[in-house]
Amino acid sequence: MKGKTMAGYDLKEGFYIKQQLSEDKLWSIFSGMFSNKVSHDTSYKYGFFKSILDSLYNADDNLVLTFDQLFYKFTEIYWNLVLKHHLRQKAKTKDGRETALERILKDSLHRQEIIADVSFEALADDLKVSICHKVKMKCKENVVGALFRDSDDTLYSFSKKSEYIQLNPLVYAFMTKHKKILEKMNYFEWAKYLEKVNEESSTKNLLNNLDSITLRSDLSIYRKILFEEFEEHECFYCGKELKPGEIHVDHFIPWSFIKDDNLWNMVLSCPQCNLKKSDRLTPGVYVENLIQRNDMIIEQNASQISSSYKNEKLRLIYYWAKCNGYHEIWTPGKKGYTIEKV
Ligand SMILES: [Zn+2]
Repeated sequence: MKGKTMAGYDLKEGFYIKQQLSEDKLWSIFSGMFSNKVSHDTSYKYGFFKSILDSLYNADDNLVLTFDQLFYKFTEIYWNLVLKHHLRQKAKTKDGRETALERILKDSLHRQEIIADVSFEALADDLKVSICHKVKMKCKENVVGALFRDSDDTLYSFSKKSEYIQLNPLVYAFMTKHKKILEKMNYFEWAKYLEKVNEESSTKNLLNNLDSITLRSDLSIYRKILFEEFEEHECFYCGKELKPGEIHVDHFIPWSFIKDDNLWNMVLSCPQCNLKKSDRLTPGVYVENLIQRNDMIIEQNASQISSSYKNEKLRLIYYWAKCNGYHEIWTPGKKGYTIEKV
């Protein structure tokens, strides 16, 4: 990646400008970030922005996200884009050289003799950690400063040496409220970029693929923890006893909104409730039930719940999901269920 046209890529650290930001100003900053005045040698700014969006609720009280957190997401995204979907991440050059990130991923694949369509989640933990480390060391050099500069120095403060970003609280509040729209803006420009640098045959279903690159197919670890360690033996929604072999793991706040797997958002349910609830919220009383459940887990084994989790944050995320278009409230009942629009 040459920085000639990409502003800010070589900054070692940056500090967000402390200033009042109106909604109009914030929209104009994000529109600018996704406009064609911003240069892209590779697709990495889109991937890094998605990593931030998908990690929003994992930020700590000071809105800090570590490079380890962000580049874990980032690596997962690119593992699936490059190796599973075979998408190039920059325009073809005369010498056919790929980006450093593409080389790191393909090298790990060859060295481990892994089959090409294996998903990132299926790799062994120590292998994931070592690949993420390589990606972080390479990619933090350019993308963190470049995205900072594209946001007119407003999105976050960062330090490459201490390896963190700290989100600007005003921007954070805006991002939580408009997460889905910002996600769509990012996908749209990202897809346009990928279509430009790839063959038509590899860009089939591109938007769907972008949206699902971090979707896990195997949530059985949560089933094991909740059923065995914390003895959840009843459906979280209807209270029916769970039968072995028919225990579903449900994202209480829909995955399509949160884009992340966290124990504090996972509940066990019967297949009927899981399938009928689908991509919807449930009434507020279930939020309070989940808070009680999480309190119980923290009391018994606090290490199972991320330290950035707070009861108040769960209530807020539920509220933010409503702000982001999750208007259907699903309620299980004795005779079936109801869906109400709010
Ligand atoms: Zn049920």
